[in-house]
Amino acid sequence: MDISDRIYVAGHRGMVGSAICRALTAQGYTNQLTRTRAELDLLDGATVRAFFEAERPDHVFLAAAKVGGILANDTEGGDFIRENLLIQTHVIDAAYRAGVQKFAFLGSSCIYPKFAPQPISEDSLLTGALEPTNSAYAVAKIAGKEMCDAYRRQFGFDAFTIMPCNVYGVGDNFDPLGSHVAAGLMRRFHEAKTVGASEVTCWGTGSPLREFIYADDLGDACVFLMNTYTEGGMINAGSGQEVTIRALAETIRDVVGFEGALVWDETKPDGTPRKLMDNSRLAALGWKPKIELRDGLTEMYRWFVDTHATER
Ligand code: GDP
Repeated sequence: MDISDRIYVAGHRGMVGSAICRALTAQGYTNQLTRTRAELDLLDGATVRAFFEAERPDHVFLAAAKVGGILANDTEGGDFIRENLLIQTHVIDAAYRAGVQKFAFLGSSCIYPKFAPQPISEDSLLTGALEPTNSAYAVAKIAGKEMCDAYRRQFGFDAFTIMPCNVYGVGDNFDPLGSHVAAGLMRRFHEAKTVGASEVTCWGTGSPLREFIYADDLGDACVFLMNTYTEGGMINAGSGQEVTIRALAETIRDVVGFEGALVWDETKPDGTPRKLMDNSRLAALGWKPKIELRDGLTEMYRWFVDTHATER
């Protein structure tokens, strides 16, 4: 990217999109183009086409998506597949037609088979059955990746896909039912501390393993890949920091300063037993994460207290 290029970040108010914007700004890319959902409805194809024709961005990061934690994915699969298919179909196609130079699509590590060999390499895609709790979302993201690849093959469109591991950080969604694990637990520990409760209930058994990347590390990786990655297809963007959900919960308890006990509700799903990605392609390009899990959770908690906790 040239420093003066017009860069459209779709989903700039979300955790990943806002982190991409911060990374761009930090590196001097100030010609950013953003639209709120009220200004530009990505579910409406005609509106998206008109936006691209009028604004003609040079580069696009597609970080707008309907996302959620294990429970939301499990219970609202219809919304997840419809909204994501619509958003990505509209944005990828309109970007190609408007002459966008390079396009980065954000996927998710849940696109890989439930029992993929660990660490999961990019080549594992479509080699086995998906985890049922998020298969609707995963199929939509796989379709987006395939659309980028097919537009590259058929039309020469320079589109590629970034597959992050589980992301947490500033800007995360703390909705009790919709959130991912880090935000969900942070809020519950905070509320338990505030009311002086003696225990906090966590979902599942605590034994699943997950890899966590701090949103700003991922934002930095996305900008790095836009500048260095030339192959097409997809590339994993993880941190290599793998913990059990139990260890994550204990770290969040410490960060929040809750002194009570953890209780595990095994009626809630565990999801995939392990989801560690092979990040060697990203490492070979010369990128590595900077933020340790505990430090990232501390930053995230500070932000949560400043923004959310005071509203309630
Ligand atoms: P996943 O990586 O797609 O499974 O997404 P999540 O971030 O939602 O969940 C990760 C793991 O954390 C699963 O094993 C959940 O059962 C577990 N978990 C424990 N407590 C919570 C919670 O409060 N919210 C969520 N979303 N997951 C939790």
